[in-house]
Amino acid sequence: MSIESVEVKRNVAGKEKDNSLIEFQETLREAANILNYPVQVFEFLKKPMRFLEVSIPVRMDNGKTEIFQGYRAQHNDAPGPTKGGIRFHPDVTPEEVKALAGWMSLKCGITGLPYGGAKGGIICDPRHMSLDELERLSRGYVRAVSQIVGPTKDIPAPDMYTNSQIMAWMLDEYDHIREFDSPGFITGKPIALGGSLGRETATSKGVLYTLQMVCELKKMQLKDTRVIIQGFGNVGSYLAKYLYDLGAKVIGISDVLGGVYDENGLDIPYLLESRDSFGIVSNRFNSPITNQELLEKECDILIPAAISGVINKNNASHIKCEIIIEAANGPTTKEALKILDQREILVVPDILANSGGVIVSYFEWCQNNQGYYWTDETVDLRLKEKITASFLNVYNTSKRYSVNMKIAAYIEGIQRLAEASRLRGWLK
Ligand code: GLU
Repeated sequence: MSIESVEVKRNVAGKEKDNSLIEFQETLREAANILNYPVQVFEFLKKPMRFLEVSIPVRMDNGKTEIFQGYRAQHNDAPGPTKGGIRFHPDVTPEEVKALAGWMSLKCGITGLPYGGAKGGIICDPRHMSLDELERLSRGYVRAVSQIVGPTKDIPAPDMYTNSQIMAWMLDEYDHIREFDSPGFITGKPIALGGSLGRETATSKGVLYTLQMVCELKKMQLKDTRVIIQGFGNVGSYLAKYLYDLGAKVIGISDVLGGVYDENGLDIPYLLESRDSFGIVSNRFNSPITNQELLEKECDILIPAAISGVINKNNASHIKCEIIIEAANGPTTKEALKILDQREILVVPDILANSGGVIVSYFEWCQNNQGYYWTDETVDLRLKEKITASFLNVYNTSKRYSVNMKIAAYIEGIQRLAEASRLRGWLK
């Protein structure tokens, strides 16, 4: 994603008020109850162990100084250093950052990475900032949080509307502060600065591998499946291309302005080429449909790959698919999930389906620590192994406890966090 193309996707239709922290806590409590954990486990894990709020003064191009609010939440560092991205978005809130950090802990637990979870965020609108202003903001953020981050403490990465260039500026600032080269401080870097092959496409590849697992389970042929992807950004666009190349029928995609739909299958390479510098393509068509309409079109697999809360109590009963794969963080609300469960629509949860990003971030960190770099094939093979094994664990747990895959994923994640915390003597 180029920085110029940072189109802040605020109004992808249907998003409700952000309830992520409450949803995280309620589902965590459910999983802890199923495991018969003492209430202390829930009380400990419901909030981050550390939360830092910072004010970042940035000299703007017009000569004035603006103060930006930023956050870093470190959910739990019992399993190892904490790990998670930094998002730049006008709608960032402390609660959302805390929930996202908790989800990162669960993601790392499910996939067996030696990390706890973290997340950072800055309230800003990158669409209205120049590259120079973004660079000063990125460097300012690192100066503000430098005491609590580091390659063996807390390792940031890209998230919504941050990219490898922003990671490069952050790395450079950190190296200046510490006075030595520490590529393992941050992941999602450009290859020239120690980034990993395959990191850019990791999340979409991970979603693809979970989709292939689902097809196997449901005895569906990928070639016969009709897929709708909401979101045509980093994750959605690569995923659409992989599916198209494998012969699946991608019948709908959408960007922030609207959707493009064709029941006979879309020409994905053409759509990719037709995007403007903001990544928008839907405005090139005469009768684009809304994001909301797209979500309710009939298909086999629906993949929300944009923002949180788009499948909610208002539309859950109108969704017409067999399977939902959550590529975005938190696209299905708790109320919606209840309705989808009743309708026997399988939902593959975000903390499993989109874990490809952090898995390859872990590989990047390993390569930085070793100073030895892997081939594309090695990265891809190990990603596939890890996400496939994690999928099977979560699936089997859902059968063992007769719960949906979301609860099963929380059960898998919380077990790891509770065990690590117990072994360190933090919990009984
Ligand atoms: N921001 C991504 C996520 O939500 C990646 C995090 C990472 O690579 O550490 O999973």
